[in-house]
Amino acid sequence: MTHSTASTHRPSFLAQALLAWYPRHRRDLPWRHTRDPYAIWLSEVILQQTRVAQGSPYYLDFLTSYPTVHDLAAAPEQEVLRHWQGLGYYSRARNMHHTAQQVVSEFGGQFPATYAGLRQLKGVGPYTAAAIASFAFDEAVAVLDGNVFRVLARIFGLHSDIAAPASRKEFQAVADQHLPPAHAADFNQAIMEFGALQCTPAKPDCLFCPLQSECWAFQHGQVALLPIKSKAKAARTRYFHYFVLRHGEQLYLKERLSGDIWQGLYDFALAETDAADMPAAEVLRHVKALGSVLTTSKVTEGRPAPALRHILSHQKIEARFHALELAAALPETTQRDTGLRAYSAAEIEALPKSALINNYLAKAL
Ligand code: SF4
Repeated sequence: MTHSTASTHRPSFLAQALLAWYPRHRRDLPWRHTRDPYAIWLSEVILQQTRVAQGSPYYLDFLTSYPTVHDLAAAPEQEVLRHWQGLGYYSRARNMHHTAQQVVSEFGGQFPATYAGLRQLKGVGPYTAAAIASFAFDEAVAVLDGNVFRVLARIFGLHSDIAAPASRKEFQAVADQHLPPAHAADFNQAIMEFGALQCTPAKPDCLFCPLQSECWAFQHGQVALLPIKSKAKAARTRYFHYFVLRHGEQLYLKERLSGDIWQGLYDFALAETDAADMPAAEVLRHVKALGSVLTTSKVTEGRPAPALRHILSHQKIEARFHALELAAALPETTQRDTGLRAYSAAEIEALPKSALINNYLAKAL
């Protein structure tokens, strides 16, 4: 069964079914009570690659801490990262901050009111622009996220690889064709919610689905096969050796610079190698290179330092934490060259850190 056309006068079968389904099943989520483009944008940025239950408190916290785009733009980056802590993908937080500054400096603090205008904002891709344009300004532009790709692939029997950028055009055309211009916001919310609750990746509720008789995948027994999505490249493994230098009650940390993961977050002195283990002599060599004088060292051959694993989207971090006590503060020159500075426990608590560093600190302190 195929559906190639949708009437421009009457909502298509898909729009009718989704608009009837949505009011009865929609979840009451905080960002569904607003038409403020800033709040909608915040929710969309936070919810990318984050589950609703995890993202909701962050959304509320950001809105409370930064009620307007002016407040967010004026906040120090470190403070924004601290609020973001725990959500991962920190480049999203930095991009969000830059976008807020762009809205203030180039648009006088007003979000552009059209899809095309929103696309001029740095870091606002087709999905986010369509979401803001339709939810805040009722523009008739269809959103495409993972849920929408799945629903469309199944209902219309679309076999293109949804991981391939070229497929977007095909799916966008189908979604736009079925979007009823008078109900753009509801249709977009409905199709995403339908994908999240009814037409789920595993075990979709086909039995009680209002689209069952129209659904190509259900009619052809191919629900489990669609959508087609090629596998992402295997994550590469990186080996991080952290030197946790303690002097008295303070630990030495540094800010991570650009060009790698976790930019702007704080961690310890670090050597990256191609092995999970590091012999004690090598640990000492690294630490001495910092000009430091050790009192006691917890580094002992044969007794591995605490190990933690952290999985990111394209890399796996195997981290070892080598704890060392210093007899004296690190020399000024070393602090200047490496960015390492001594922080008390309370100061460390306030610094933005990756989940890996937080996990270590929670276990070690
Ligand atoms: S019948 Fe099943 S696969 Fe088809 S739209 Fe409904 S839930 Fe999705």
